[in-house]
Amino acid sequence: MSDLPKLFDYTGAPERASLRSSLYGQDILSVDQFDRETLNFVFSRAHEMREMVERLGASDLLHGSILTCLFYEPSTRTSASFIAAMERLGGSVIPITQGVQYSSVSKGESLPDTIRTLEQYSDVIVLRHPEIGSAKVAADYASVPVINAGDGAGEHPTQALLDLFTIQEELGAIDGLQIAMVGDLRFGRTVHSLTKLLMQYDVSLRFVSPDILRLPLTLMNQIRDLGVNARESHDVSDVIETADVLYVTRIQKERFTDMAQYDEVKDLYEITPDLMQRAKERMVVMHPLPRVGEIHYAVDTDPRAAYFRQVKNGMYVRMALLAAVLGKA
Ligand code: ASP
Repeated sequence: MSDLPKLFDYTGAPERASLRSSLYGQDILSVDQFDRETLNFVFSRAHEMREMVERLGASDLLHGSILTCLFYEPSTRTSASFIAAMERLGGSVIPITQGVQYSSVSKGESLPDTIRTLEQYSDVIVLRHPEIGSAKVAADYASVPVINAGDGAGEHPTQALLDLFTIQEELGAIDGLQIAMVGDLRFGRTVHSLTKLLMQYDVSLRFVSPDILRLPLTLMNQIRDLGVNARESHDVSDVIETADVLYVTRIQKERFTDMAQYDEVKDLYEITPDLMQRAKERMVVMHPLPRVGEIHYAVDTDPRAAYFRQVKNGMYVRMALLAAVLGKA
């Protein structure tokens, strides 16, 4: 038995079943699964995780559980975040993140077979894959929960949850805010997932991008159908003075087939200290990272630069989610 502190020891409690959330045993594939009640639940658990880590560093809540992290696309933050989350809760990880091209996948093994093999070792699988819909395919075959850590230009639900959690932790509330998204709104899966979540709140949305990287029309139509206050623009100047949240994104080079098009748009936006002088005193700049020039390094010392705090919040949110799907919440 681990000698880590027992923080959430529900073992043997008669009411154990009722302590389990609706996420117990569930896959996490899309933000569409999250209503406001579930979001509040995840955020309050993430907040508790934060307090626990700040006080104690770790607990043994998931001692004995094994997570497989299967990443077919490069990742530093998301894989490290899931690994840290699992280990801070006393669980273990099988990381298949580096050199995945040398595994059976490159020998022609299908995703279902890989998943059916890995689930024999693990209690939960986190998957990143370049194709939209791949996480759903994996989940259809797996008998353990599958968590989507990015399916191509599709969704990145855990990133969106940590983004929303960050807005709440930084600004105290989500309703009433103006949120401006800047950059690659077409291929940026974090933008897609976050936008869908924000549609559940009373917010106004601003989308700043070049024409070829506008938010997908289906998403824009959903926003319009709901009557959300939303506007598109090409210029950060149009939003810098009014935004409560500036959500800056990288142009997703790997999704372009025509590199000349990428070159045309790659340097269009940069958040600089000069620009920040025009922003509200109480606002935050966020970025799912990695950045490749969209935010000048000199902005990092501005207290409104929240992107590294956002990274840490990712670990707390993933701790909350892992605990929930494994029935420890
Ligand atoms: N890390 C984020 C993602 O996986 C953002 C990015 O790659 O630009 O989608």
